Amino acid sequence: MRGLLVGRMQPVHEGHLEVIKRILKDVDEVIIGIGSAQLSHTVKDPFTAGERVLMLTKALAENGIPASKYYIIPIQDVACNSIWVAHVKMLTPPFKHVYSGNSLVQRLFKEGGHQVTIPPLYNREIYSGTEVRRRMLQGENWEALVPISVCEVIKEIEGVSRLQHLSIKEVK
Ligand code: NAD
Repeated sequence: MRGLLVGRMQPVHEGHLEVIKRILKDVDEVIIGIGSAQLSHTVKDPFTAGERVLMLTKALAENGIPASKYYIIPIQDVACNSIWVAHVKMLTPPFKHVYSGNSLVQRLFKEGGHQVTIPPLYNREIYSGTEVRRRMLQGENWEALVPISVCEVIKEIEGVSRLQHLSIKEVK
């Protein structure tokens, strides 16, 4: 049995890892869609799909999750919400179960005939992409919110200075 989780993962954080581990208690394999794959280099979406694939692959390995248990698929957005489920299904291995805390994702997959589960949120006030990016911009401790391997990827790609530079450009 396969389950799907779609997320922007800007960046991958501990909440994503917790929910993936939780999903793998229910299903044999998890399909992880990297949402809004076309977006990067903005304050809300600073990282490319490829960088997010790298973060996730390293974080799953760090957490002892074997590659045979997951598929990571970048998924670009489409202009029409009503055809998004078909677009996702075109790109992914077959699945029945969908896991999402996002109400639009829940609604679209429910209407598409899928079984949708709302997984519990883990420390959502801090384990959120918004909070990680806020801390990066404010020079606060963002490293505590992401797996060590994600921290290493963000340092390798100089992600914090990218985000800080983009925030200066956007206020001009
Ligand atoms: P996200 O990275 O914020 O969250 C992804 C999932 O991770 C959540 O649904 C939630 O289940 C889980 N999660 C996040 N923080 C957690 C925590 N602290 N504890 C436990 N679980 C946690 O991403 P998102 O915004 O939900 O991503 C949805 C994606 O789907 C976006 O890229 C969006 O553009 C895309 N989408 C596109 C269309 C379209 O193209 N028309 C339509 C709907 C959705």
